[in-house]
Amino acid sequence: MSADNDVIISVKDLCKHYNGGEIKALDGVTTDIRKGEVVVVIGPSGSGKSTFLRSLNLLERPTSGTITFEGQDITSPSTDINKLRQNMGMVFQHFNLFPHLTIMKNMTIAPMKLRGISKADAEKKALELLGKVGLQDRAMSYPSQLSGGQKQRIAIVRALAMDPEVMLFDEPTSALDPEMVGEVLEVMKQLAKAGMTMVCVTHEMGFAREVGTRVIFMDCGKIIEENTPEEIFTNPQNERLQTFLKKVL
Ligand code: ADP
Ligand code: MG
Repeated sequence: MSADNDVIISVKDLCKHYNGGEIKALDGVTTDIRKGEVVVVIGPSGSGKSTFLRSLNLLERPTSGTITFEGQDITSPSTDINKLRQNMGMVFQHFNLFPHLTIMKNMTIAPMKLRGISKADAEKKALELLGKVGLQDRAMSYPSQLSGGQKQRIAIVRALAMDPEVMLFDEPTSALDPEMVGEVLEVMKQLAKAGMTMVCVTHEMGFAREVGTRVIFMDCGKIIEENTPEEIFTNPQNERLQTFLKKVL
C-alpha cells in the first residue's frame, strides 16, 4: 500500500446538488488519488462522472464536502483557482482548441502568459511535445485542418505543456470516429507509462483494463464500487456494476 503522503487529491463526502437538492449529481463521494495512479471512472450516463471530474478543478462548485489538492483545501474561498487549474490539465470530449490560432500558438499561449516562459522556450517545448505524438509537422496548421484524432492528441499535449501534476480526461475519445480512438488512447497509455497521475472518465473498457491502476464505478452520484481492473471486470460485487458491465462488455 502507498503511504498517505502519496495522496495528491483527497475527496471527502463531496456533494453537488441542483434544484435545491432535487438532483443529486454527486451524493457523498469520498476517495483519494495517489501519485502515479491511473484512475478510470466508469458508470452509466448521468451517474455523476463529469460532475466529479469537473469538481476536482472547480469547474463545478461543490454543494458540500471537501477536496484537498497537495494538502490544500481547494474549496476554501482563498484558493487561487487559476493556479490550481494550471496544475490539473483537463481534456474534454470536444477538443476545445482555439480555432483562430495555429497549433503552435494554441500550445504556447498558456505557458507564456501564465507560467511566464519565454517564447523561444515555449516553442521549443511545444515542438518536443508535438514530436512525441507524431505531429511536429503540424505546428503551423490551424485546428480546422486537422482530423479529430489529431486535434485530441494536440489537446493532450497542449495540457502537458503546462507541466501539470495531474491530468483529467472526460470521455476524450467519445466524439471521435472509431478509427481515431486508438491513436488517442495510445497517447494516454504512453502518458500513464511515463508516470503521470491520471483520472479518466471513459467507456473504453479495454483501456480501463490494460492501463488503469484502479477503476471507480459510479451510479446515482455515488461510488458504488472501486477496485483493481482485474477485480472489477472478473469479480464485480455490486449488482448494478454487474448489470452495467453486461451492457458495455
Ligand atoms: P455523467 O457524466 O456520468 O453522464 P453528469 O455528471 O454529467 O453525469 O450528470 C450527473 C447528473 O447531474 C445528471 O442527472 C445530470 O442531468 C445532472 N446535472 C448535471 N449538470 C447539471 C446542471 N447544470 N443542472 C442540473 N442538473 C445537472
Ligand atoms: Mg459526462
